[in-house]
Amino acid sequence: MTSGTRLLLIGPPGAGKGTQASRLASAFGVPAISTGDIFRANVANQTPLGQKVKAIMDAGEYVPDDITNAIVAQRLREPDALAGFLLDGYPRTPEQVAELDRVLSAEHEALDAVVQLDADTDEVVARLVKRAAEQGRADDTDEVIRHRLSVYEQQTAPLIQHFAQRDLLVKVDGLGAVDEVTQRILAALAAFGVVASR
Ligand code: AMP
Repeated sequence: MTSGTRLLLIGPPGAGKGTQASRLASAFGVPAISTGDIFRANVANQTPLGQKVKAIMDAGEYVPDDITNAIVAQRLREPDALAGFLLDGYPRTPEQVAELDRVLSAEHEALDAVVQLDADTDEVVARLVKRAAEQGRADDTDEVIRHRLSVYEQQTAPLIQHFAQRDLLVKVDGLGAVDEVTQRILAALAAFGVVASR
């Protein structure tokens, strides 16, 4: 097993995962890998992948598992991810969990912790509506926001229980100032035995 920290960040859209992911990744000296960012970059560059996933993302649906799994498996084989990573927004379905487990066990690697960033629904809707006004993301309209939250509740929230049963879950309240939440996550991880190097 290679040294380094392997973390997942899980939580509803609008919980602040992206912001916290880059801060945690730099604290642990690992790359932050966001499937949402990878898909958005492909859409922006109009790659074949981007053309395939644009309508799915705009509708707030999940990109099919085979596509998503292939992207992540490839990304995790890149040199910077070999000594640890922080995955933001993946896995989101049971099939993605199974694939990640296969990829890691093939490398004799294992997850160190799964951070659940908790936020109440009213708060995340308010944040997403604000982000829509600021960034104009196509998947941040009122109707799509509600749909994304319900897809999360149905397909992804059940994974939390799964990771709790594997004794990997570290639950953190995502409400508050960005710095405060980062410190809260780092403290919770340290209490769990996962300590940042920087
Ligand atoms: P995010 O920025 O993580 O909220 O992702 C934005 C969108 O990208 C999602 O609403 C999905 O359409 C797609 N996406 C990102 N990650 C995944 C994933 N793990 N599985 C399926 N679709 C994903």
